[in-house]
Amino acid sequence: MRQCLVCGGADVAVYLDDADDSLDTSKMGSSRTRLSPGTILRCQSCGFGFRQSRFGEKQLADLYRGMDTKVYQAELRGRIRTASRHLRILNQNAHRNGGGGELLDVGCASGIFLAQALDAGWRVTGLEPSEALYQEAKERIGSRGTILPLILEEASFGEQRFNAVTLWDVLEHVVEPTNLMRKCGELLKPGGLLLLNVPDLDSLEARLLGRRWPLLLPEHLNYFNRTSLKLCGQRSALEWLRFGRRRSYFSIEYVLYRLSQHRVPLAGLLSKIAGGAIGHLMVPVSLGETYAVFRRRESGGFSVVGRPTAASEGQ
Ligand SMILES: [Zn+2]
Repeated sequence: MRQCLVCGGADVAVYLDDADDSLDTSKMGSSRTRLSPGTILRCQSCGFGFRQSRFGEKQLADLYRGMDTKVYQAELRGRIRTASRHLRILNQNAHRNGGGGELLDVGCASGIFLAQALDAGWRVTGLEPSEALYQEAKERIGSRGTILPLILEEASFGEQRFNAVTLWDVLEHVVEPTNLMRKCGELLKPGGLLLLNVPDLDSLEARLLGRRWPLLLPEHLNYFNRTSLKLCGQRSALEWLRFGRRRSYFSIEYVLYRLSQHRVPLAGLLSKIAGGAIGHLMVPVSLGETYAVFRRRESGGFSVVGRPTAASEGQ
């Protein structure tokens, strides 16, 4: 049993006991052929959940580089609508914060959100490790912004700082979520915003669906709730502003496909029946996620480095 990655607590219990086999590209992304989320542990103190077997950052980056993105890319219409939700969340918060400026999207996928942000007046930079998605994002953004085929840990921005950094569906995938959040915080201008969206273990969907919750995935290493997410931000010298829930848009065909991967009864059969007739219709789906908005403090450095210690527990 290991320590909680967020609060450092040692009181950790098994949340889900599933086969903990190795991760390879056939088990990752929307095109995966089999699902096994592995053994998931949960901190009894802050509620953070995490996969017991972790991977090296380099190993993980290599896996994402080679990921099969066919199913992801087939859901283009839904991704466009989900991206516009992201943009609305960003703009609403930026408006309260004095307007747009420089935006960094970490894990920008095929660049749909960045393209919309460009049209809304943001100056954009995106990072995307998957080779196929990076190429698509580069084509979509062209010379209007910067797209790099990197994970954040590999990127160097020199003196450049951003008005907003976004992590849409990224934090659950990384080996060291607190480190990633701190790095994002360091890249913000004082007063800049960090926006992120993660699976929420305390969501109604997660609690009702249990083992069949669609966000229990092999590539998800971290599962937050609002307490642990807030704490993760505080450890990065970020001030928490608000939480919200974002819905995603998918075709009926895709929803049924995903449910059948989770062995939800009848989903496979319905998927075959609905496929031709109504499968293309888009529906908003609430998967049980939470988005959070943090702000970099105007003053004060980033003194919290590495794992929390007993001395920093009370902060
Ligand atoms: Zn904890």
